[in-house]
Amino acid sequence: MSDLGELYQQVILDHNQKPRNYHILGNGARRADGHNPLCGDRLTLYLDVKDGLVKDVGFQGSGCAISKASASMMTDAVKGHSAEDAVALFRLFHDLVTGAPGADADDPRLGKLVVFAGVRDYPVRVKCATLAWHTLRAALDQRDDVASTE
Ligand code: ZN
Repeated sequence: MSDLGELYQQVILDHNQKPRNYHILGNGARRADGHNPLCGDRLTLYLDVKDGLVKDVGFQGSGCAISKASASMMTDAVKGHSAEDAVALFRLFHDLVTGAPGADADDPRLGKLVVFAGVRDYPVRVKCATLAWHTLRAALDQRDDVASTE
């Protein structure tokens, strides 16, 4: 258990200090904003979805270490995968951190995301850990209904 706690801290610190995909996407990328008023975490997510595939994803924001590390790991986890897989992972992750019945921390799709399993005991932290995922969900749900004039 102490090993798991140490791993959890190392992974979170690493992603907090060197967040992956910490950049803006321009040119037609979807954009969604997330806010966790309980902690003050804010982030903006950029998503490039084409043919049902998450081609690129980036984020910027400010907040606590958990929210930033979670956003960083989320972008790593969904980049290059289908939007369908991203939604499935959202559900797995959500079940994991909320301690939902049937949550499976051994599901291989979660990979390193299992380090967030410990936050289930801290309801405020659950919101920090899920903020990026809720924002991802919002960006995925946006429809590509911009009319083209070409
Ligand atoms: Zn937070």
